[in-house]
Amino acid sequence: MKIKIKNILLGCCLAASAMSYAQKEEAQPKNIILLIGDGMGLSQVSAAQFYGENKPNFERFNNIGLIKTSSAHQLVTDSAAGATAFACGIKSYNGAIGVDVDKNPVRNIVDYASNKGMATGLISTSSIVHATPASFFAHVDSRRKYPEIATYLPTSEVDFVAGGGLQFFDRREDGKDLIKTLKENGFEVTTEKLPSITSTKKQAILLADDAMPKMSENRGDFLPEATALALDHLSQNKNGFFLMVEGSQIDWGGHNNDADYLVSELIDFDKTIGVALDYAKKHKNTLVIVTADHETGGFTLAAEGTNYHKIKMEFSTGGHSATMIPVFAKGPGAEKFRGIYENNDIFTKMVSSLNKKEKNQPK
Ligand code: MG
Ligand code: ZN
Repeated sequence: MKIKIKNILLGCCLAASAMSYAQKEEAQPKNIILLIGDGMGLSQVSAAQFYGENKPNFERFNNIGLIKTSSAHQLVTDSAAGATAFACGIKSYNGAIGVDVDKNPVRNIVDYASNKGMATGLISTSSIVHATPASFFAHVDSRRKYPEIATYLPTSEVDFVAGGGLQFFDRREDGKDLIKTLKENGFEVTTEKLPSITSTKKQAILLADDAMPKMSENRGDFLPEATALALDHLSQNKNGFFLMVEGSQIDWGGHNNDADYLVSELIDFDKTIGVALDYAKKHKNTLVIVTADHETGGFTLAAEGTNYHKIKMEFSTGGHSATMIPVFAKGPGAEKFRGIYENNDIFTKMVSSLNKKEKNQPK
């Protein structure tokens, strides 16, 4: 009788542990796509609902959370500290690019992913040396040091990059030719237009001297198309990939208190989210995360006076605000992104997925 009970208990334990193992297996993404809408608060996201032509891709997510975005030294973060929190997992000071409060370099997610044999990519509608993308490959004490930030790219672990910033590579005051250095480090460099097919080499696609044009200045489908190209490129790696995609200019529409600028950039970003989600639908082992570094403009969708039939888009500042920022996640491990937590936990949650991968998948 005693033995029987033991067996039953043992059986239960085995079943339970087998189940939790299966759940862990499920929660392991092979690929991570992180989409950052710079300056994108909840009112900006809500604008997609009122001003987009199609049902917003934001509505395709089933796991939603909120992040607190204050930086180490300021209540209201900038994009450098915000991106450094995502890229390196630490709260630093406003202006910090991949460095801590003492200006020491901190290992970033690109290095973690690359160390696990994954491919990595960065895409931005700003210059690639601008604060958000820069925090994923450079370690510099000030976001304004664009020429110095650029020197980090050729020897970084990044395999695919697309955006603006050509002048910081080919027209430098120090006379260095960073296009040559990129090529020496195995990059195929493109400066004319987005290639229609991907390369087997690493790719650096630098299509503007500084920022990419605004949507209203005929940027067209650069962001969704560069994202599709990156997914093609990075999929060649059997160990999976990490891709960061930034809709940079949602922030600039907010700074300019220009609602049309903001909305056109937001709709372009939503379309790009669709590309990532469509890829993840076909490749179920892909985790897609959408969030922002902070809100910009104190943007609101206010009623026009007492007329509740009409929305008047309004701003309360030319700078950033401290409001919590939504996080949308879908795919293996997405439930981890529910709840209310700090912005640097985005990094922790992504890296914990990668660490599981290392434990359970033989090299
Ligand atoms: Mg940015
Ligand atoms: Zn900003």
